[in-house]
Amino acid sequence: MTTLPFPAAADQLAVDVSSVRNQFPILQTEAHGRPLVYLDSAASTQQPEVVMDAVRDYHRHHHANIHRGVYQLSQTATRLYEEARARVARFLNAAEPAECIFTRGTTESINLVASTWGRSNLQPGDEILLSTLEHHSNIVPWQLVAQATGAQIRVIPINDVGELRLDDYRRLLSPRTRLVAVNHVSNALGTINPVREIIAEAHSVGALVLLDGAQWVAHGPTDVQALDADFYAFSGHKIYGPTGIGVLYGRRRLLDAMPPYQGGGDMIEQVTFAETSYAPLPNKFEAGTPHISGAVGLTAAIEWVESIGLERIAVHEQSLLRYATQRLSAIPGLEIKGNARRKSGVLSWVMLDPAIASLDIGTQLDLYGVCIRTGHHCCQPLMERLGVTSTARASLGLYNRVDDVDRLVEALAEMVEHARQKPGPVGTRAVPAAGAEHLSLVSNATEGVTVPRYPAAAAESPEAAAADIADLFAFLPDWPMRHQHIMDLGEKLPPMPEVLKTAANQVHGCQSIVHIAARLRPGAGDVIEFLADSDANLVRGLIALLQQLFSGQRASSILAFDTEAFFAQIGLDQHLSMSRRNGLAAMVQRLRQLARQHANA
Ligand code: PLP
Repeated sequence: MTTLPFPAAADQLAVDVSSVRNQFPILQTEAHGRPLVYLDSAASTQQPEVVMDAVRDYHRHHHANIHRGVYQLSQTATRLYEEARARVARFLNAAEPAECIFTRGTTESINLVASTWGRSNLQPGDEILLSTLEHHSNIVPWQLVAQATGAQIRVIPINDVGELRLDDYRRLLSPRTRLVAVNHVSNALGTINPVREIIAEAHSVGALVLLDGAQWVAHGPTDVQALDADFYAFSGHKIYGPTGIGVLYGRRRLLDAMPPYQGGGDMIEQVTFAETSYAPLPNKFEAGTPHISGAVGLTAAIEWVESIGLERIAVHEQSLLRYATQRLSAIPGLEIKGNARRKSGVLSWVMLDPAIASLDIGTQLDLYGVCIRTGHHCCQPLMERLGVTSTARASLGLYNRVDDVDRLVEALAEMVEHARQKPGPVGTRAVPAAGAEHLSLVSNATEGVTVPRYPAAAAESPEAAAADIADLFAFLPDWPMRHQHIMDLGEKLPPMPEVLKTAANQVHGCQSIVHIAARLRPGAGDVIEFLADSDANLVRGLIALLQQLFSGQRASSILAFDTEAFFAQIGLDQHLSMSRRNGLAAMVQRLRQLARQHANA
């Protein structure tokens, strides 16, 4: 593959990336023996040393509970916490610190508004406008409140490049619209939404606007007053700060009129068993002991980002985005999802030819030391609109450099080359060729029909099969080799007959598409056998392991086998993501369900 020249503008990158990178100890580490390439900042940014130092310093010298202590330590902790609020207010250009409520993150900020403003203001006939681009955390809280109040949800559609269709937005707006809740930037596609215009239009019909700023605040300056936003939410861990701390900005007038979100200490003025009066802003919305060190860390993160300058950060990331887009687009068979005119540093793609499932892209890149995100990115409605179940996503941060993009592209190119050389279903995905659905069908001579060939027992019991698998895994010295072995098993797994890929056979709880068809072997008592398949080769490999363990075994033996302990023993729990483990657990669950029904057959 030829290396494209980096765009001229990047020769004078606004940011000194080497000095930035030196402040991130984690970027000096390795993954699977290769220098770490971190391209998952949209999920969570890494923390610079100043943030970690601020949190450590707080714990070493200043920690005490806030607001109520009469001693100096508590007063210092209170001061640091309230200074953090003032810092956030300046960062957002809020009119006053009391308009900035500390929460656990964007998700909690949105839930707070949905639960308090939503439940006390919405009624049947009212409408909440969301968009196709939303993260689940800006969908589900509104569904909950819609169910509780009888309000309706309407959805702003997108065009094929992933931009909101503003004409449709205007058509959807009406006096029934009470709130428009959209993201400032899409986490899955990187689209930067025209939020100023969206807000002005919403206000013209009397609706409020909540902006989900999770993917914006680290990438450009935010001014809630200039935007005229009613609510603005963001998370500390997406702006180089700690996890578990976030912010809800709200106009004082609105926050004052909203009921509290949670009850408890620190949010009250006076409590009797008859009634309680609430503390003024911001305490009314901060029940209980807050994440004090998180607020301190967030202050350090904001100061760090501002010391570099959000405009400079934007220039750097935009240059890198252009370069990465150019290089990824040059890989034949790769399709970038989301080509909005205004985009932040997010690249989502699917590999079509050769077809490589996103999960397989992610787990293989991991072996090259490259961290990206795969799946639906908590945007299932968006994935449905795009006609995919998942994408692979690389997202840029201030510390990324040309070399990171090159490492990603080179690893992808090798992976594609490898997949092209594989015979049959491309080392990566079960794409049955025409007629291949009959591969696992055998003739049933007596009835003259074809039936699928279910695998017989691989050993005399699941324990014996497990011992064989464990022996082999022990022989493979590290995770890359074990991963390769699982991928090889996946390649050899015969495709499941298409006729069995029914909705009833689909396993939920997996991010890849998984089908499983289990049955009792005819005439063999409680012997269970099963076929399964997935679009991801890694999952196909796991299916092969499950078949080796369980297919052809008695229901009672399947029930007696401790699958979780076994997966831990061979290291799967350590190396598979939680969603993958959940998917595996969902398959095992299906088998155990059937086994339970027939254990005494
Ligand atoms: N909104 C968007 C656009 C996001 O990208 C995310 C996280 O990825 C969230 C909301 C939820 O953020 P958190 O998990 O920090 O609450």
